[in-house]
Amino acid sequence: MVERKDIERLARIRSERRDILSVYLHTDPSKRLKDECRIALRHVLDPWREEVPEDVERIERYFELEFDWQARGVAVFSSERYGLWEVFALQVPVPDAAYLGKEPYLRPLVNAALGFLTYGVALVDKERMRLYRFAQGVLEEVAAFAGEEVKRHKQGEGRGSSAFQRRADEIAARNMRQAAAMLVRWFEEAGCQGLLLGGTEENVEAFREFLPKSVEDQVLATFSADLDEPFEQLEERVLALVQRLDEERKAKLLAEAVTAAAKGEGGTTGLEDTLALMQQGRVRAIIVHEDYAEPGVRCPQCGFMAASPRECPICGIPMERLADAVEAAFHEAIRQGAELYVLTSDQKPQHPAPIAALLRY
Ligand SMILES: [Zn+2]
Repeated sequence: MVERKDIERLARIRSERRDILSVYLHTDPSKRLKDECRIALRHVLDPWREEVPEDVERIERYFELEFDWQARGVAVFSSERYGLWEVFALQVPVPDAAYLGKEPYLRPLVNAALGFLTYGVALVDKERMRLYRFAQGVLEEVAAFAGEEVKRHKQGEGRGSSAFQRRADEIAARNMRQAAAMLVRWFEEAGCQGLLLGGTEENVEAFREFLPKSVEDQVLATFSADLDEPFEQLEERVLALVQRLDEERKAKLLAEAVTAAAKGEGGTTGLEDTLALMQQGRVRAIIVHEDYAEPGVRCPQCGFMAASPRECPICGIPMERLADAVEAAFHEAIRQGAELYVLTSDQKPQHPAPIAALLRY
């Protein structure tokens, strides 16, 4: 489990030289064979083999000898010269990539580790409920409910069948009421930020009726599911659903920032303005595309950053070139405790701005 403090620690690392290698590898065992992962690893490492041979070898050795091939993604930060070696196993796939720089490249790690809300997931039918918690790509069953059996109405039973049906409906309603009460008790204490309901459309609709409005408002999506479906399959489906919901949420925040920037109130877009406002400590949330890069400059003395070359307005000395001022801005946002949102490639065409921020004031 990656925590915010791990990311903050990495965001404080700055080497004098371009000798920090950050490697991300998609290792989802259900999607890729080990050999495919090895080929992908070689492919991303090849460009850096001559510049940092010790780090490339160390990473290859790690995947050969130590990695257990269980995680869906891996992030490795290595610098023999700087004395850095950190590995994070992720339960969310990450795109294959390797970056060499003076600082670790953190956007994919932030997206995999902090990009998702924590969700409650309830699968329901007329008799049962299974309750799960989903956090950082991992689904965990937390509780189950089994009510009274609902006898199925048989076709063509003729007289008496409507009374039989009524009785079945009553039992189903009682089961759902009890399951809903259990869900509500759990949900209020579990610290989840959203609820997903799975089952047949009819059962999910019926079940929602038993939820108080405060919890019903937290239902962010419903999906068709079978209570007895294999766990791995369910986890896979929930992950895909959560990825979609989280991307929608981030796109909404971006739209909010763009609108606020246009009004000149509470938001900004573009690298130059985001950098300027960040250095005034005014950025509450930063929203940035995962592979947007733009050169910039940074003062070697005070760390002041800008998008275009000039003298430092504070120290009056020439600033140094930064290969990727977007990533440097992102690190500053991490250090300042801002909320971090990384938009993924799939969304690129819809992006009105590759970097934007919501402001504190
Ligand atoms: Zn300066």
